[in-house]
Amino acid sequence: MGHVRGVALGQFYARVLIVALYLLFGVSIHEEYRRQIMKFNKQKSPQAEKEFGGTLGATCIPVFLPLTVLYLLCVCRSPVASVLQWPPVLPPTAQLWDPLAPVLILGWMALQSFFYLLPMGKVSEGMVLKDGSRLKYPINGFHALCITAVLLTLSLWLGMPLGYLFELLLPLAVCAIGVSFLLSLYLYICSFWAPHHALAQGGNTGNPLYDFFMGRELNPRIGSFDLKYFCELRPGLIGWVVINFGMLMKEVELRDSASLAMILVNGFQLLYVADALWNEEAVLTTMDIVHDGFGFMLVFGDLAWVPFTYSLQAAFLVVHPQSLSLLGATAIVTLNGAGYYIFRKSNSQKNQFRRDPTHPSVANLETIATATGKRLLVSGWWGLVRHPNYLGDLLMALAWSLPCGFNHLLPYFYVVYFTVLLIHREARDERHCRAKYGLAWDSYCRRVPYRIFPYIY
Ligand code: NDP
Repeated sequence: MGHVRGVALGQFYARVLIVALYLLFGVSIHEEYRRQIMKFNKQKSPQAEKEFGGTLGATCIPVFLPLTVLYLLCVCRSPVASVLQWPPVLPPTAQLWDPLAPVLILGWMALQSFFYLLPMGKVSEGMVLKDGSRLKYPINGFHALCITAVLLTLSLWLGMPLGYLFELLLPLAVCAIGVSFLLSLYLYICSFWAPHHALAQGGNTGNPLYDFFMGRELNPRIGSFDLKYFCELRPGLIGWVVINFGMLMKEVELRDSASLAMILVNGFQLLYVADALWNEEAVLTTMDIVHDGFGFMLVFGDLAWVPFTYSLQAAFLVVHPQSLSLLGATAIVTLNGAGYYIFRKSNSQKNQFRRDPTHPSVANLETIATATGKRLLVSGWWGLVRHPNYLGDLLMALAWSLPCGFNHLLPYFYVVYFTVLLIHREARDERHCRAKYGLAWDSYCRRVPYRIFPYIY
């Protein structure tokens, strides 16, 4: 084990060195790079269909989205908190930087990497890859969440001012964005050393901007450390609930107690994150792990977008406290419960069916056969709409915004963005499924005509 980690560390330093050399003295390794490019030109899949607006999207999104994160954070802390305010709220540059921020971001990544490597929990195999092999993944994300919770409690007991995270939000977001760009660049350059079968179909077009954005390599690893799988559920997702908790502590600092609205937002989102980590194994069958390369799109989403925009409601409540009646709170809890029930039940039903179609809980469901040998569910949750899990997720998203009242649009940013994301994601998945299952997919669509919202869409 120690030897493997030693080799992994060796590989990591070698790659970091190559990247650093390339950045500093591009010419000196130009020859090697040119050879890799020639090899790649033979391998690329020019017919791959471009997504996210093609090269234009891949050029604009990495500029536009980081600015959006910073803008939303500024707006939510401003007294007016209006996304439509013109001219927009801009912070003095001094507010964008704090030397503590890079220490916290890198320390956090190192701490979560350490938890990832701890020999806790079981080890699972991923889906079969193009070369017939299956990668192994540690299933210990929930353990990492629990250890983080213990450490947070300990730090509170030691008097650590967790509410200070509110002041640090902007510098932390700036650093997370910086780390996303650096990691994406590292992944892009290293991908030229990856064998052809390890490349993702979508991010392998030969257009550097597009491939940098989509990600060339499917499962980049340093030894046994899987970078995509690690980033997908740990630093960003656990970071999100830690930021939320920091906002709650800031509210306690300002007003001596946490409001009901803040407690609900923290509770709902903690449930969501704990659920994702409890069911960590399910991520191994998602589009992100199975299909998408690891490039800027996922890196930025995991490390910057999720922790800093998903925590907007909690940050908003620090500056804009809301009073919530018991009746209102009960209605919101019921909505979140209903969303969670649909989300969990439908995801579990499909995962169970994919893992073991003969299991008693799914064996009686109606299915249709496909030419690939896999079957598609046409009854149960997957007979209601074609993406019942998205429906549940969206109901929860609404429940997270409602505690923030109706006077501002900003807390509803998440619901609006998430609706757009899931409609787009559904369309992508639909394309992949039609390509995979052909006529069988068409007959599934005829049997189950609605995509996400019954009788609406
Ligand atoms: P899904 O879990 O919806 O999986 C889609 C795949 O399921 C398809 O490609 C197909 O794969 C299989 N499938 C589709 N229809 C059927 C059927 N009728 N019977 C059997 N299998 C079927 O994919 P996602 O990764 O998009 O979503 C996973 C969860 O993550 C969702 O709950 C979603 O809401 C959530 N999510 C949350 C995000 C966030 O930021 N909070 C972002 C993205 C997702 P195959 O046939 O190959 O098995």
